[in-house]
Amino acid sequence: MTTQTLTDEALKAEVTAWLADHWKPKAGDQGAGFGLHPHRDFMAKVVEARWAVPTWPMEWYGRALSSAQAKIIEKAFAAVGAPGAGQDRSNLWANTAMAHATPAFKRTIVPALLRGEVGMCLLYSEPGAGSDLAAIRTRADHKGDHYVVNGQKVWTSGAAVADYGMLVARTDWDVPKHKGISFFFLPMKQPGIEVRPLRQITNEAHFNEVFITDAIVPADNMLGPLNNGWGVLQTALAYERSVMGDAARGPRSGQDNPKGDSALVELAREAGRLNDPVIRQEVAQVTAYKVLNRLNNARAKAELAQGNSSPIMSLGKLAMSRILHEEARLRSKLLGAGSLLEGPDHPRAEDANFLSLNAYFTSIGGGTDQIQRNIIGERVLGLPKEPEVDRDMAFRNVRSG
Ligand SMILES: Cc1cc2nc3c(=O)[nH]c(=O)nc-3n(C[C@H](O)[C@H](O)[C@H](O)COP(=O)(O)OP(=O)(O)OC[C@H]3O[C@@H](n4cnc5c(N)ncnc54)[C@H](O)[C@@H]3O)c2cc1C
Repeated sequence: MTTQTLTDEALKAEVTAWLADHWKPKAGDQGAGFGLHPHRDFMAKVVEARWAVPTWPMEWYGRALSSAQAKIIEKAFAAVGAPGAGQDRSNLWANTAMAHATPAFKRTIVPALLRGEVGMCLLYSEPGAGSDLAAIRTRADHKGDHYVVNGQKVWTSGAAVADYGMLVARTDWDVPKHKGISFFFLPMKQPGIEVRPLRQITNEAHFNEVFITDAIVPADNMLGPLNNGWGVLQTALAYERSVMGDAARGPRSGQDNPKGDSALVELAREAGRLNDPVIRQEVAQVTAYKVLNRLNNARAKAELAQGNSSPIMSLGKLAMSRILHEEARLRSKLLGAGSLLEGPDHPRAEDANFLSLNAYFTSIGGGTDQIQRNIIGERVLGLPKEPEVDRDMAFRNVRSG
């Protein structure tokens, strides 16, 4: 019998038994990064057993299951804290490659991405192109079986440990800005790439400037057709926004579960303010936002078929941004003047301050809140488009700096 014909109960029993046999949480930390997974040996077993992407076809590490049966697998993994399931929803690199890479490149890259063996970064933003991403000036020039890339990227999370960057680069300067862009998996470990760390407001340095000088990318690493990179980018951005809308980093101390709804209640109790009616209302409001966002995201995910670029993902990301800012503000309010303290003797204040600053990760990274509102207005609600004077002009003639 194939798994496809298993009943829900039989599937649950199979995955539970497999986890009991294979998930030994102390199996070893192999060093994590963007795309790189700390439990890579276990991840390889998850892929081999076809638990990583169960909705994908049999020939691509899947079981051709429905989303409902895939959820059974994800829940079983979540129940024991095991990683690796649900990648058909959450692995933005593998889903983008699966939808748009050439068959040959897919064979190489997709299994490695699912096993968490490849460090990845996103080479999108440039000093002159952030919200207006179609204004990129990094160029990729065709030379036989490869492209030569020159330009500068910025705010590139994880670039220092990346093996590949998902790169958008201009390949035609004589057509309007959205129509001359191509999308590549650029090998990062080569002489033409220089990565310089940037320090963030949280005092971490996850993101970087990337200077690209005559770097080489094989033509086979192009995703989608030449000059159609904008469409591929929409798939990748939808997965990124979907992931950011689902979850965010919790306190740096790891003292409470970022997804749990009880942390604020506990903090209010500790502060002796659980009976304050205004505080109770504010705690209830943040909690209600969280629950609603989870429900909305589940509904939106049902529409995100493979390779789809659902603009509805902007809604979850925007909601998560609001939740993070509201929760951080409330934490600081509960601590009062104590929120001004810092250092290891004041973990609650450290957490509140870190969360206040880190909330900007979600409200800026992956496209700002304002841009998500534009997308929702134009592509979900069908409101008139924002004026764009350079939309139909050959990019070569666009005046920008
Ligand atoms: C933590 C973090 C991680 C990041 N990681 C990456 C990464 O890995 N790879 C990558 O490529 N980039 C990354 N970014 C960059 C991020 O995508 C950009 O910062 C973002 O798209 C905004 O671009 P910008 O910084 O150039 O701001 P700008 O585009 O200059 O925007 C400045 C302000 O103007 C507003 N604005 C701009 N245009 C409009 C408009 N049309 N309508 C209304 N308001 C508008 C914006 O909302 C913003 O408030 C990261 C950013 C952060 C904060």
